[in-house]
Amino acid sequence: MQTIKENLISSTSQLSLVSESAKLDSELLLAFILRKPRSYLYAWEDEKISDKNQNEFKRLLARRIKGEPIAHILGERGFWSLDLKVTADTLIPRPDTERLVELALELIPRKAKWKILDMGTGTGAIALSLAKERPDCFVTATDQSLAALDVAKQNAQRNKISNIEFLQSDWFAKLENRQFNMIVSNPPYICSNDPHLQQGDVRFEPLSALTAGEDGLNAIRTIIKNSHQHLFHDAVLLLEHGYDQADAVCHLLKEANFSHVHNLQDYGGNPRVTIGHLK
Ligand code: GLN
Repeated sequence: MQTIKENLISSTSQLSLVSESAKLDSELLLAFILRKPRSYLYAWEDEKISDKNQNEFKRLLARRIKGEPIAHILGERGFWSLDLKVTADTLIPRPDTERLVELALELIPRKAKWKILDMGTGTGAIALSLAKERPDCFVTATDQSLAALDVAKQNAQRNKISNIEFLQSDWFAKLENRQFNMIVSNPPYICSNDPHLQQGDVRFEPLSALTAGEDGLNAIRTIIKNSHQHLFHDAVLLLEHGYDQADAVCHLLKEANFSHVHNLQDYGGNPRVTIGHLK
């Protein structure tokens, strides 16, 4: 029987050939199998692991070595203050998107009773974070994928959030006359021929959640073009986009008569979110 420490050393060295976060990946997998927090691995590094757990660890490690994302192997990912179920039907929530949540919250007064729309909700990451932080608001979360909506609904239950509804809709198709104080979205925005699509976690994520035409802007164009009729007077639209799309998104928003259009950076210093107001 091997100790926790021995297992981590060997798995980190195996994973370092295929993953940039080999040590973290190893810790997450082993902690998951032992049903303990990561800190346990260091507090009890000389503890021996049972054969059953050892075999299970090898099995999960083999999946990771083949490239499967950690979030898919564990079936969950932490986002904001939520614990979200993740499947191959949804985008894996990313820290970049927490920045969008943070910026949205800066604009929503604490006691506001706003109607908020999150388009292409996936796991529900953005919608559920906003609903949780602003319990007096009501969030509508849409996705065209029923499988993704099913995951998002489970995430609402898992996190005990009820000021939210889920609606299957191809962008605005099912929203007819409805209007909102804020629309947010992390839509697909990668160019369809981007070589990064053949690398890392994205290979296992739904293409429909990642790509949007040759310049990656198709979904963003659809949202901007149609959002006017779904926004109240004095409402706001926030969009996540690629690190090199800020100018294009600003331009589209200004063209659609949005005012106070500006970009904000993610934690890597890239302009990641663009905001426009409707006066
Ligand atoms: N930010 C993600 C990536 O670059 C893409 C997410 C998206 O298309 N909305 O992998």
